[in-house]
Amino acid sequence: MLKIKNLKVEVDDKVIIDGLDLEIPKNEIHVLMGPNGAGKSSICRTILKDPRYRITRGEITFNKEDIKDYTTNEVAKMGIFLLMQNPVDIPGVTNAEMLRTALVERGVKESIFEFNKRLTESCANLGIDKDFIHRNINEYMSGGERKKNELLQINVLKPSFIILDELDSGLDVDGLKSLSNGLLAYKEKMKASFLIITHHTNILEYLHPDKVYILNGGKIVATGNEKLAYSVEKIGYKGAFSISE
Ligand code: ADP
Ligand code: MG
Repeated sequence: MLKIKNLKVEVDDKVIIDGLDLEIPKNEIHVLMGPNGAGKSSICRTILKDPRYRITRGEITFNKEDIKDYTTNEVAKMGIFLLMQNPVDIPGVTNAEMLRTALVERGVKESIFEFNKRLTESCANLGIDKDFIHRNINEYMSGGERKKNELLQINVLKPSFIILDELDSGLDVDGLKSLSNGLLAYKEKMKASFLIITHHTNILEYLHPDKVYILNGGKIVATGNEKLAYSVEKIGYKGAFSISE
């Protein structure tokens, strides 16, 4: 599914990612951890083709297609979805308008009636108030509501690869559990893959990742299973990998 090889990324001539390798197959959950400033969010922005993040070496392929020169719009249409650390407000644009436009862009032929019905059903399945449909994107929403709103978008747009940057930020324990359950149900249905960035292991109790990576200085310094995450939580990044801050 997603393959990154020997990637180097620069912003304003500053090297942010250097020598990154990652391979995430279909229907797997991979977790990326690492100290602040390690480059986690930069990886997300690079995959989503934020033009500030210049790829100066290496490869990124999605379903064997080279996406290095693609735009954000093209990458999103291929089925990559980023759930941002802090989803932004978009006053004046409702969820329904944005989702409808995105579906039309993707060539989905669906009447307004079918679209509304599907949105209402998605809200019911996710335990989301159906008022969300006609609210402006993320405006006046709490941290938990923003994440639920993104989960609604996922269920409507049906991406095959989902990146969650600091998935747990803004969520209480119940919110975390309900978001995790929503993601697992989606994975079960769509056989989607996930790259999850987190600082905490409590999410692992629900999501049980196939692989855990530790990132530092723009590259992977350790790869393992869930146990790696627990040992890092116990002794800290510094203790485990002689990482300086
Ligand atoms: P993390 O998400 O792991 O905390 P980031 O990817 O946000 O780390 O940042 C990695 C490093 O790259 C930091 O030193 C940060 O200041 C720098 N960086 C990231 N994006 C930019 C940018 N757009 N302009 C300048 N520096 C950046
Ligand atoms: Mg970050």
